[in-house]
Amino acid sequence: MPSKDKKLNGTVIVTYRCNARCSMCNRYKAPSKPDEEISIETIKKLPKMYFTNITGGEPFIRTDLKDIVRELYKISDRIVISTNGFFTDRIVDLAKEFPQIGIRISIEGLEATNNAIRGLPDGYQKGYQTLKKLREMGLKDVGFGMTVQDRNAADLVPLYDISNEMGMEFATASLHNSFYFVEAKNIIHDRPMVAENFEKLINKLLKSKSPKKWFRAYFNHGLINYIYGQPRLLPCDMSFDTFFIDPYGDVMPCNGTRDKEVMGNLNTQDWDELWNSPEAEKVRQKVRHCDRQCWMIGSVSPAMHKYIWKPGWWVLRHKIKSLFSKKPYSMYENKICCAYRDGKITKEQLDKCSTCDYHARINNGLSEASQAQLVNKTGEEIVDEDIAEQMRK
Ligand code: SF4
Repeated sequence: MPSKDKKLNGTVIVTYRCNARCSMCNRYKAPSKPDEEISIETIKKLPKMYFTNITGGEPFIRTDLKDIVRELYKISDRIVISTNGFFTDRIVDLAKEFPQIGIRISIEGLEATNNAIRGLPDGYQKGYQTLKKLREMGLKDVGFGMTVQDRNAADLVPLYDISNEMGMEFATASLHNSFYFVEAKNIIHDRPMVAENFEKLINKLLKSKSPKKWFRAYFNHGLINYIYGQPRLLPCDMSFDTFFIDPYGDVMPCNGTRDKEVMGNLNTQDWDELWNSPEAEKVRQKVRHCDRQCWMIGSVSPAMHKYIWKPGWWVLRHKIKSLFSKKPYSMYENKICCAYRDGKITKEQLDKCSTCDYHARINNGLSEASQAQLVNKTGEEIVDEDIAEQMRK
């Protein structure tokens, strides 16, 4: 059983409402009801955390986000908010009160690609201008987040270069399927093309002078392994020292499972009772046997710290190589890339290794009341009306 006094790594999903229309995530079609979303009272019950990610939906849709952040800073050493960057004024206003906060804005490529994938009018310019403004204000922990897929892989390195010029963090991900994304059909089609772009990025990161970027290179190496459907490079210990909490107060191991896995509910339980419950233990057993092999920063970053010798050894080998070679990393270090190139495995076989399931019935994890809203209106209509009402006020 995890130790009681250990600080944890937590992700707080403050809302399932979202104003973007991303092609790889259907969450915007399944919003939570505002009056059911996690309250300050529930947030006060969370344990001490060394890192907290605030995410959504789009977290800045919540007009009380400042109160949530204020409360979370009482129990968390570091907070990073993942956002689409649309609500510039709200983000800037929050950053004025919390200049130490981390902000990651999802940008899915250069302007045309980003706007096509995210479906936000003027999304690229809004995100970019928000990041620039935060930088001018002196915020240090700001950066881009990009979900790499067939449609935007060619923009990976150019976008990294932009973030580099701006002195910003550059976080990557790839396509995943889960109840959280309300999606089961995400899949990479042209794996070698996507992997080649990751390879270029990895070599740039390895050539840099920043140890943080060398470890990012390892993370991106893991993404190549992931898109070829191979077992994770590091064990997954979600639910042991890491958790997610959803807008309904349900505590879960992660956001990568096919259906929502619930360890307990923080609206009705206190933290120790929940964390040490038989239900939580059952979920931990499931995590031990989980075969989804996802590679998202939320589950990989704690594992990279815990099993540091593995990425550490990889970084050391490739840094030494980078002293003698222009291209210290090759995607063909992954045996599976060679097997595919050499025709020893087919695309169909690789597709079967992924979590893509065209026939899946997706459980979106909504409460009954949130689901009931969708009888007469679409999720998009509900959220658009909600935002219009906020603007009127
Ligand atoms: S591999 Fe880990 S993070 Fe991914 S779904 Fe399984 S338990 Fe969750």
